[in-house]
Amino acid sequence: MNLPGPLERLINLWGKFPGVGEKTARRMVFFMLSQESGWAHAMARAIADVVDQVRACEECGAITTDDVCFICSDNSRDRSKICVVETQEDCVAMEQSGVYNGLYHVLGGRCSPLDDEEIPKASLDLLKKRIHKLSVNEIILAMDPRIEGDLTAFNVQEALEETGVRISRLSYGLPVGGSIGYADRATLHVALASRREMEREED
Ligand SMILES: [Zn+2]
Repeated sequence: MNLPGPLERLINLWGKFPGVGEKTARRMVFFMLSQESGWAHAMARAIADVVDQVRACEECGAITTDDVCFICSDNSRDRSKICVVETQEDCVAMEQSGVYNGLYHVLGGRCSPLDDEEIPKASLDLLKKRIHKLSVNEIILAMDPRIEGDLTAFNVQEALEETGVRISRLSYGLPVGGSIGYADRATLHVALASRREMEREED
């Protein structure tokens, strides 16, 4: 049976969410149709608002609705430390855990040769500038404990070598293959408290 055009379009769009296949998308869209129309309109507006208003902080790349996010603007934060994360979602997870009071830097990418992904060079250049400008004395790498996380951490370390800044990495407590974005507060607390300084390459 051919579905009406608008319905088919929405199901196709919905099916782009990670972990949502066509069947699940169809079930969700039909559920939405069975609800009061006000809810669906509010949802459509909320999606448009997020897309139009939420952007990356000019300083650190975290999500914000202003030019500079509330973390970068907060003078009570420890500005001598920058926690480097791969994604905005990881930044939210670290921040919501409440275990960290320094600044962040969102790379906006990771090193994954199999997926042909690299860390955006502009983000690394910006990080180097911030290290100088803010007189940062410690960089904390919060990368996922998996191969891509290791590669990303080593690449950041290499890029920052010329700055001479101390670099540590969250390690203990995070399950191998796990994700910063889904770690709970206690796990992140232990991982932060027991962070280890990364060894420098010998020439
Ligand atoms: Zn910021």
